[in-house]
Amino acid sequence: VGEQDAQYVVSLFRSVADFPKEGILFRDFLPALADPQGLSIINQAMLAALPVEADKFDAVAGLEARGFLLGPHIASSLGKGFIALRKSGKLPPTTLSQEYSLEYGTSTIEMEENALSHGDRVLIVDDLIATGGSADAAAQLIQRAGGKVAGFSFVMELEGLHGRELLSEYPTSTLVSMP
Ligand code: AMP
Repeated sequence: VGEQDAQYVVSLFRSVADFPKEGILFRDFLPALADPQGLSIINQAMLAALPVEADKFDAVAGLEARGFLLGPHIASSLGKGFIALRKSGKLPPTTLSQEYSLEYGTSTIEMEENALSHGDRVLIVDDLIATGGSADAAAQLIQRAGGKVAGFSFVMELEGLHGRELLSEYPTSTLVSMP
């Protein structure tokens, strides 16, 4: 996608101070998805910015909830399937769980135990990387399920939180970097 399209999409993003708690600048890309042109540009840009070639992964996994809005389009465009990495308590047994640290406290994500065939290479997708904690937990889940992490794709990267350093062993792409 061109520079003009990129600027147009970013102009649709919304930033909300002190949400969901004080001190957090919440970056919301949903207004861009609500715009017909914005949705189309984001979908095209995610495909154009893959961190590895399409023949280097077998499946796409998305993190609940906003990774679910991006992953299925990437997967179906490339003839691959989509795997949901869900918040705890949403998937019926048998699941694998991975706990990770948040700024305050912990959270858990889960996936279906048999979602992958041994050695499947997986592209992990989410809207935004901040500390990288949830992406790192996703990588651990994929590996515990017998898969290999092929790379990560995000729409936004928050500068200064060093999330990418946590994922330094994997190819990672982001569309826009924000303060
Ligand atoms: P982290 O695990 O710290 O990299 O946080 C990434 C996850 O939390 C993603 O699923 C984001 O959707 C969400 N998130 C973290 N910080 C923000 C923020 N400032 N604005 C919007 N979403 C955020």
